Amino acid sequence: MNIHNPYAQDGVWLRGSFHNHTTNSDGHHPLSTVYRMYNDYDFFAISDHDQITVHSDESSIPTLYEAIEVSSPRAHMLLVDPPREIMEDYSNEFTIANYERLSRACVQHGGISVLVHPNRYFSQFWKLSDMLAMSSYTGIEVINGDGNPEYDIAFDKWDAVLSSGRKVWGFGNDDFHAYGQERRAWNVVRAKENCQKAVLDAMRNGSFYVSTGYGFDSIQIEGDTIVAKLNSSDQLDGMYKYATVFGRYGKVLHEQTGRFKEIQYRCTGNEGYVRFAVYLEGGSGAFSQPLFVE
Ligand SMILES: [Zn+2]
Ligand SMILES: [Zn+2]
Repeated sequence: MNIHNPYAQDGVWLRGSFHNHTTNSDGHHPLSTVYRMYNDYDFFAISDHDQITVHSDESSIPTLYEAIEVSSPRAHMLLVDPPREIMEDYSNEFTIANYERLSRACVQHGGISVLVHPNRYFSQFWKLSDMLAMSSYTGIEVINGDGNPEYDIAFDKWDAVLSSGRKVWGFGNDDFHAYGQERRAWNVVRAKENCQKAVLDAMRNGSFYVSTGYGFDSIQIEGDTIVAKLNSSDQLDGMYKYATVFGRYGKVLHEQTGRFKEIQYRCTGNEGYVRFAVYLEGGSGAFSQPLFVE
């Protein structure tokens, strides 16, 4: 049995968000205000609709990326660190060919491509068949902090895409537009250092998890067993937790409740993939990437 662990590399844990808007598109706040709301983040991107917002020198956030949200009325796609040349013949027309062209240009440039808010059924969402028709993207936004739990959570689509045999990562972002939406969902990356390239390299390899307030200290493999160690302190260790281990088709492989610091799951070899979701008393969550089992 081979268990692929995306968390095997050493590094530092860094916090960031890629999907945020300013008054350059439909955000309520100018760039300088958005910087202040995220001033202690390690990395950050602005992703205005159908345009690249250029960063200013007013930010104290160490690592900044340019980004764009490709925003046809049908479905949205986030491109982080795209080449600026994509604007030369830019169109947000929703065809698989056009979205694939833009996604591929971003990924080939060293950036990442994320299909965002795939379950936002009242406006822009992704049909599963379109997600499967696209081939070059890095991942899916599984938690969009914009608001409605019925529309902005997409673990079902992620499990469906993963179960089709695709290897795509789960992302969490605020999709910040207005005060009150900031710092709800983010990504915690284990990267060699905090620089543009190291963070994106780590994310491409799946060395990150999605957080809404809780987290993992490490995820390791010991023989056939995956050991997920949770953020630990005297306070956290005494708090009640609810953990679920999911496999292919979203099957629940293991559940665990109580006051614990780690989760152990012994693989049988038939899981396809194994991913962890943990909630802390009060609701804060941490959601791992899949560990593929072959
Ligand atoms: Zn959007
Ligand atoms: Zn957005």
